[in-house]
Amino acid sequence: MSYDVIIIGSGLGGLTAGAKLSREGKKVLLIEQHSIPGGCATTFMRKDFKVEVGLHMIDGLDNGDPKLKIFKELGVLDNLEFQRVPEFYRFVKPGVDITIPDSYEQAIKVLKERFPAEKKGILKFFKVILALRKEVFRVPRQKWRMLLSMPLFPFLVPNLMIRENTTVGQFLDTLFDDEDLKLVLLANLGYYHDDPYTMTLLYYSVAQGSFFGGGGYFIKGGSQMLSGYLASIIEDHDGKIIYNHTVDEIVIENGVAIGVKYSKKSATKGEQQTAYGKCIVSNAALPNVIGELLKDTHAKTKLSNAVGDLEIGPSILSVYLGFKKPPKDLGNRSYSTIFFDGGLSSQRDINEYHHADFSKRIFIFVDYSQLDSGLAPEGKSVGVISAMDYLSDWDSLGKEEYKERKELAAQTLIGRLDKLIPGIKDEIEYYEVGTPTTIRRYTLNPNGTAYGYAQIPSQAGRKRVKIKSPIRNLFFASAWSEPGHGFTGAILSGYWCAEEIIRN
Ligand SMILES: Cc1cc2nc3c(=O)[nH]c(=O)nc-3n(C[C@H](O)[C@H](O)[C@H](O)COP(=O)(O)OP(=O)(O)OC[C@H]3O[C@@H](n4cnc5c(N)ncnc54)[C@H](O)[C@@H]3O)c2cc1C
Repeated sequence: MSYDVIIIGSGLGGLTAGAKLSREGKKVLLIEQHSIPGGCATTFMRKDFKVEVGLHMIDGLDNGDPKLKIFKELGVLDNLEFQRVPEFYRFVKPGVDITIPDSYEQAIKVLKERFPAEKKGILKFFKVILALRKEVFRVPRQKWRMLLSMPLFPFLVPNLMIRENTTVGQFLDTLFDDEDLKLVLLANLGYYHDDPYTMTLLYYSVAQGSFFGGGGYFIKGGSQMLSGYLASIIEDHDGKIIYNHTVDEIVIENGVAIGVKYSKKSATKGEQQTAYGKCIVSNAALPNVIGELLKDTHAKTKLSNAVGDLEIGPSILSVYLGFKKPPKDLGNRSYSTIFFDGGLSSQRDINEYHHADFSKRIFIFVDYSQLDSGLAPEGKSVGVISAMDYLSDWDSLGKEEYKERKELAAQTLIGRLDKLIPGIKDEIEYYEVGTPTTIRRYTLNPNGTAYGYAQIPSQAGRKRVKIKSPIRNLFFASAWSEPGHGFTGAILSGYWCAEEIIRN
């Protein structure tokens, strides 16, 4: 059987590409190793609780957000309920407790009141990040590559030209003296990266600008609703999705991608089958395409040279929680609360505290009971504690050590949460820990990352746009390609990839 497009993986990048291409009349085959669609954007049931794997909140949905047009086109907004979260985040550290609204006017007001001496810098901060967000989307996607080399380009994107090699850490140091203010603004850095001094200002600005511009949202019923809906578009348009099968090879003939070899995922590897397609889209991690899926040595070398040796982003540890009683009944008033240890006094310490022992590590608590989330029955509720984490701390552990470390992480983080929301520990009916190893198992992403390649200045913005497949008929749509990770990054990558295929 031959298809117009074969997609490897049903993460949001693969699903969005598949949905758009199916609606454009392309015959799509999608092959997914897991039993459900979504990759990081999934939910699973435990006892009474629908556990959300990877959505704390999705940004934007205002007119400055290119995702809005995509959602409208694909009917996402007519079929799913997006609930606006009550605030961007609450930041807590001994001596500082401040809630940052998810609109820039309100955020400016709150920050100016709390840090009056830094008024000028606060205004400049928002001016720059919002300008960068605007500039990045000012140039239509299909024109980026063409315009990059033209003399006119710098005039279209002046802020981007000046600041594309700047890190958030450097930027904040030029604006502010008050370290607490820098920490407040960097509270949710973990959404993107671990170290302010290597995090590109560009990506930070686009993502933060989107939260401040349009707000943060949760999808009622969880992210699986979005993944399932996108998958249904593919199937409703005569496309086919094969679950529980792994793509083992991208077939190359005369330098052109012509198909995939795949087999049933089981203890004893199933018989290998081949499907042929005019285009192959990899939602699978780029390093895996280079390292495993391309067996043709010429194609492998070509892609490896084009991509280069890039740094991979960090991973995430999640302690999923089911509560007998909603935390809001215990007095919690925030959807996202980010806790910094008292020893963390400057932005120079942030990276260290993303790597620290769990008794000191930076963590976020997401309380879905602040919304009508659809994740738990009446009177009960779901929450999650998340922290940045690293596969290297887990993958050399034996089975027992692994279990012990998970339990230690859960008990330490729950204990810290209980100090901040007294009594919450006693209301836990279910908990389970997802580690970088878990993310790797369900997505096959190297290092168990959910971030793709790290968003550092040398691999972001214009430099990332240049990562284009040098192999004819092979395309990429995922957190690993442009513009980067997150629900928004993966969705945009899928849509842009579909547009490129349609244009070709
Ligand atoms: C705990 C957690 C919390 C997060 N919170 C947020 C948040 O609040 N907001 C936000 O915007 N983002 C969040 N993210 C990040 C976001 O979910 C991801 O960046 C994004 O969903 C990645 O999408 P992707 O298209 O790159 O695919 P992935 O989700 O990485 O999925 C890839 C898919 O491809 C499949 N696959 C890979 N290789 C093969 C193969 N060879 N054969 C068959 N199938 C294959 C995998 O099984 C998987 O289904 C979070 C992520 C995690 C893990």
